[in-house]
Order: sequence, then structure tokens, then C-alpha cells
Amino acid sequence: MTTDATSSQPPGPRPTPAPPRTSGSRARALDALQGGAFDVLVVGGGILGACVARDAALRGLSTALIERDDFGSGTSSNSLKVIHGGLRHLQHLDLGEFRRSVAERRRWLRIAPHLVEPLPVLVPFTTRSEGLQLRAGLAANDLLSADRNRGLPIDRRLPGGRLLDRTEAADRLGPLAAPDLRGAALYHDALMYSAERLVLEVLLSARDEGAITVNHAECVGPLRDHRRQTGILVRDRLTASEVPVCARCVVNACGPWGEEVEARILGGSGPEPGSRSGSLSLAWNLVLPDMGLTAAVALPGRSPTPTGSGGDRPRRLFLVPWRDRTLVGTGHAPFSGEPAGFTGMDADDPLIPSFLGELNDGLPGDPVTPGEILGIHAGLLPALSSGREDEGHVRLRRTPGVRVMEGEGIPLITLSTVKFTASRRVAEDAVDRVAKLLGRSGPGSRTADIPLPGAPAEGMAELIRTAHEELSALLPSDVIDHLVRSHGTRWREIVAWSEFDPRWAERPFPDAPILRAQLLHGAAHEYAATPEDLLYRRTELGARRRVTSGCLDEARAVLDDS
Ligand SMILES: Cc1cc2nc3c(=O)[nH]c(=O)nc-3n(C[C@H](O)[C@H](O)[C@H](O)COP(=O)(O)OP(=O)(O)OC[C@H]3O[C@@H](n4cnc5c(N)ncnc54)[C@H](O)[C@@H]3O)c2cc1C
Repeated sequence: MTTDATSSQPPGPRPTPAPPRTSGSRARALDALQGGAFDVLVVGGGILGACVARDAALRGLSTALIERDDFGSGTSSNSLKVIHGGLRHLQHLDLGEFRRSVAERRRWLRIAPHLVEPLPVLVPFTTRSEGLQLRAGLAANDLLSADRNRGLPIDRRLPGGRLLDRTEAADRLGPLAAPDLRGAALYHDALMYSAERLVLEVLLSARDEGAITVNHAECVGPLRDHRRQTGILVRDRLTASEVPVCARCVVNACGPWGEEVEARILGGSGPEPGSRSGSLSLAWNLVLPDMGLTAAVALPGRSPTPTGSGGDRPRRLFLVPWRDRTLVGTGHAPFSGEPAGFTGMDADDPLIPSFLGELNDGLPGDPVTPGEILGIHAGLLPALSSGREDEGHVRLRRTPGVRVMEGEGIPLITLSTVKFTASRRVAEDAVDRVAKLLGRSGPGSRTADIPLPGAPAEGMAELIRTAHEELSALLPSDVIDHLVRSHGTRWREIVAWSEFDPRWAERPFPDAPILRAQLLHGAAHEYAATPEDLLYRRTELGARRRVTSGCLDEARAVLDDS
């Protein structure tokens, strides 16, 4: 168990830091929100809303985004972190979706090379026929994704797949090698270093293009001028004040809360319990201690795939190495509650024992016990009726949800997606519609090509090497790595804080490679407004260790100073 490192370092008085850039001020953003009349107002600051705001701003549309909690704090921070190339679509012979997934994976690797990296995936097999099937699958995957590396820097290119023999497979799988192992298929997908920071960088890019983005600001209802709707009413949840915001078009990207928010925007009170027009599925990943994996491993599961087209074919469970943890997922179950009341899952949830049983059935070696679960990432996803909900059967909605409504006044587009990976594309299509609705014939989407703010032109390996050269006398190696992987080229902005006071270069939590300057940067430039924003989504301390009251005090002190 980790100890609370901050308790031995009382915050004490702080020196005055360099003046924060005003573009990072939440108060100013709120003022701009109130005074503005926007072409597009995006409600919801997960990855989908962030991508819509960036796309719209890059096309020159005046854009604002509001998020009820913190940016990326909903479903988007709870994913398995995999940027999928769509191998599953290939299995289901859905070539169109497969090609679109390959393209989106390539785009994320290109625009965010600091936050998205190649992920080797091993699929062990125990029979000759399985090996033959996997060989054919790898060949088809390589052939049909021949352009997967187009325009990518060398260290973000994905090698072709190959079949490993028993010896090499056992070597790579370590304790996960079954006694009857015959070999493993090796292919590559991509992994987010941090989903939270990826959402944030998309929003920072939108902000750099002039978008106004405000967290802890909730859509509470329509704004009307007589009978005509002119925008929406927003409540600042930090002060409880209400802010009227005028817009020519509203995009509702509220994920599982979309139906309720749609009703609010139109002036209703939301669906009655049990009368929702769309279904939702509960999805979860376990966070387990590091299993020492050097690749993700796909183990056979028992439950049917949740994608609908696989019939009763059992799904695979993925074990993904992430930070100093292993993520295991994804579990699915029908969700019949109200999304407003959803508060996540814990290890006592009745769904966990059978999921652990399924995992342990496919897991060679020692079984995982409930006591080893360090956390659960859970969220709600759009689903279709499977007709077998009573058996726990889930059918995820495979295509993005898009609903356009033209109420009394302004058009409203409600969006949803079951894949983080697909959100840039879904946003592009949505902003095409917005532009059409507004009669704007400007440039098309540019989000596939323009790098995010911290993306290095020279490739990540070179950026990390430069940072080590410049900083190795000042900072430990793990801190330098984390700094560059989290902020990309912006690491210099963080390090610059310590020129004003060396205490900003200290590690406030000695067991995490995080500088106090990163907290300050989050507060001054990245709209962190609460200690939780700083610890869970700007620095990800929460992903690495238990957040104690001492950690929260440290973050609060930084917020007070910034
Ligand atoms: C366990 C799990 C594993 C997954 N793994 C993967 C994976 O490996 N790869 C992949 O590609 N996808 C994965 N996904 C899917 C992916 O995470 C989602 O498709 C994606 O994050 C949805 O993003 P979103 O922006 O639509 O929703 P959210 O991230 O939920 O964003 C919606 C936002 O709207 C806000 N909101 C709600 N009401 C209001 C209001 N009244 N006013 C203002 N804001 C409001 C919420 O606070 C929230 O932040 C996974 C999902 C889960 C649950």
C-alpha cells in the first residue's frame, strides 16, 4: 500500500509564480461564454464533444463548449485506452468499418504521437486449426491495412503481424503461457498513454483556435426569447450562478446522459423511468497489479461478443499493460437504471465474481482474487436491444448515433459513439452537418491532419532524448519520461516554472513521477478548477496511487496560489 507522501510536507507560504497566461483563466472563459453568441455550442466535454469543438473552431465557426464536471471525467476517462484498428470488424467481414478504424488509428498516431503509441497484442492458441485461422487473419489484416503507416514517424509505425512459434510465444507470454500453448499471433494496435490528457489536448487545440471551453458548467434548460429558443441556460456549478448562452446550433455530446440533456435543451424534463428510446450497456475494466506484460494479451472468454454480429461467438478478454498496472476488460452487462444515478462500480458489485470467474477460466497460472482488484473503470455505452437482456446479453450500437432536431428556433444535433477511437470521425461528420445547417460553405474538416498542441515534429524518441540531455542533471529519469509523455513538446513550459522558484521542480508525492510545476501548469493553463481535476485528469496521480487527503491539500494549495 502506498503511504501519504504529502503529510510530511506542509504546504506553507508560496512565492508568487510567473503570471499565468490569461487564456487559461476559467473566469474569463465564463465571461466570454455569457457575452457571446456562438455558431456552435457543444454540450459535453468528453472526447466526442472535444472533437466537435476542435473541428468547428478549426473551420472558423465561433464555438463554445460546456462540461458539467471536468473535461474527460465521464466515460472517456474510463476506457481500456486502446485505439482500435478494427480487427474485430474484419472478423465480422465489415470491411467499411474496418477501413475506417484503420484510418482513425493512423490519424490519432499522427496528430498525437506523444499520447498514442504502438501496442503489440498477442493472441495465444493451443490447436493447429486456431493457428491456421489466426495466420489467415493476420495476412488479411496486413493486406487490407497496407496504408496503416502512411505519413507516420518511424516510431509510430505498426509492424506487420506474424505467428510466433511455441518457444517465442512462451517467452513473450511469461506466466500467461498455458501448458498446452502451441504459439501466438502477434499484431499491433495503438494505446493511449493517457485518455484524460488526450481529451484535454483536443480541447486545448480548440481553445488555441478561439473556442471557449468551460468545465463545471452544466446545461440546465433552454434559453428563450419569447417563444423562440435562442440558446441554452448554463449553471456554473462552482458558484451556482446561471449564465445565458446564445447559439445558432447546439451539439449535444453528453454520452450516456444525451437523452436527458436533449430533453432539457428542448425544455422537457427527460424520459420517464423505463421510457428511454435507446438502451444503455454497462461496461467495465478491472485495474490489477502489474503482471509484467510487454504486450497486450487476448485470452479466450466465455460470454458472447457484445458487438451483435458475432452471434454467440465468445469474446476475448484483453489484458493491457498500462503504467505500472494491468487493465483487464471489457465486461458488459445490460443497464436498466437511470444514467443520472450512475456512480460507477466497485469490487463488491455482484457482476464482478462472474467476470473474475470468466477471466480465471482463461488465465493460465494463479487465479486473480477479488482482493487484488485495485480499481474498476466503468461507464455506460449506447446499446440496442439484444432481446436477451435477462440472460445478461448485450448488443452494443456499432454505428454512431446522430439525431438532428429542429425545434422552435435552433437546430440540435445529439451524438453518441461506442468508441473513443471513432470520435474524431463522428465529430467531423457532425460538423459537416452543422456547417450545412448554418449555410456555411467554408473549409472542410482539418482535424485529421493538424497535430495537437504537444505533438513533436521530430518524433517521440528524439523528443525524449533531447529532454533527457537537457534535464538529466536536474530531474530523475522517470520524471523526465512522464513529463514528456504527458505534455509532449510543452515540457519546456512546465520546467520553466522552476526558474521562478525551485520548489516547483519538487516531487510533492515521492512515489509518483510528477512535479509540483505540473499541478501549477494544470491550474494556470489547463482549466483545472478543483483538486480532483488536478490529481485525476491533469497529472493522473489518481491513476497511479491512492489519492489521500494530503494529496488533495497539496493540490488545493497550488490552486490557491495560481
Ligand atoms: C469500460 C470501457 C472501456 C472502453 N474501452 C475503449 C477502448 O479501449 N477503446 C475505445 O475506442 N473506446 C473504448 N470505450 C468507449 C469510449 O470510452 C466511449 O465511446 C467514449 O469515451 C464516449 O465519449 P463521449 O464523449 O461520447 O462520452 P463521455 O466521455 O461520457 O462525455 C459526455 C460528457 O457529457 C457531460 N454531461 C452530461 N450531462 C451534462 C450537462 N447537463 N451539461 C454539460 N455536460 C454534461 C458528462 O459530464 C460527460 O463528461 C470504452 C468504454 C468503457 C465504458
